[in-house]
Amino acid sequence: MKELIRRAAEDLAAAGNVAALTGAGISIESGIPPFRGKGGLWERFDPMEFAHIDALMRDPAKVWKVLVREMKEIVDRAKPNDGHKGLAKLEARDRLKTIITQNIDGLHQAAGNTDVIEYHGTFAWQRCMDCHKKYESRKVDISEIPPRCDCGGILRPDAVFFGETIPAKAMWRSRQAAVDCDLMLVVGTSAVVQPAAMIPVIAKDNGAKIIEINPERTPLTDEISDYLIMGEAGEVINRIVAAMD
Ligand code: NAD
Ligand code: ZN
Repeated sequence: MKELIRRAAEDLAAAGNVAALTGAGISIESGIPPFRGKGGLWERFDPMEFAHIDALMRDPAKVWKVLVREMKEIVDRAKPNDGHKGLAKLEARDRLKTIITQNIDGLHQAAGNTDVIEYHGTFAWQRCMDCHKKYESRKVDISEIPPRCDCGGILRPDAVFFGETIPAKAMWRSRQAAVDCDLMLVVGTSAVVQPAAMIPVIAKDNGAKIIEINPERTPLTDEISDYLIMGEAGEVINRIVAAMD
């Protein structure tokens, strides 16, 4: 791993425009469970039953009780870890421009990154299903489920559920970031959720180098990635930042 850390530090130092694509893996060290794999939410819930837009529309209270309340409580409390902080250091040193995140936890912004595209929206905000007014999640009282807007409408996370389309601006901006970068860090994503998994492919197609950071191999490994640094995001990113000093 030492050799690959040094290589990544050199590649980052040499790159003109760096983007990162992050997934649930980078937030595991902040105590937020991923969807897939060990300890993942899908071990306990059927995604189509609870994370599909049809389920939310059919029975918002049920989806709130099983999935949304728990995720909201976890996200409300979560703090950035070394992985998020390391990416913020890279931005502060002018070595990272844009983060495209599939995460809905707001932790990149909390760590200090300023150009974050939330591809799947956010749980940090709730919006009214009727009038679309937004409320900061932390301030939403959930003593009654589902929580309601001043207008009486039901609140839902301002996030993308399965079966919903990606917000057009996030889609367009991440495509542009993938085209513009000459190095992309792909951190903690299983790269199976579409269309997010296409982002590194677009970057590669436009000549970017792709570095993966993940304890496991993914469909991108050896196909799209130039190399995989096998390890946990916090430790690996810390070591890369240290190697750049
Ligand atoms: P995923 O759950 O499909 O995969 C997680 C990936 O993280 C796996 O490849 C795993 O090997 C890797 N991983 C595990 N521990 C790691 C560590 N310490 N450091 C780095 N990587 C680690 O996640 P996904 O690809 O992001 O796709 C799932 C979807 O779930 C996303 O689109 C997102 O919207 C949503 N989600 C978000 C959060 C969050 O906001 N934190 C949490 C769960 C799910
Ligand atoms: Zn309303």
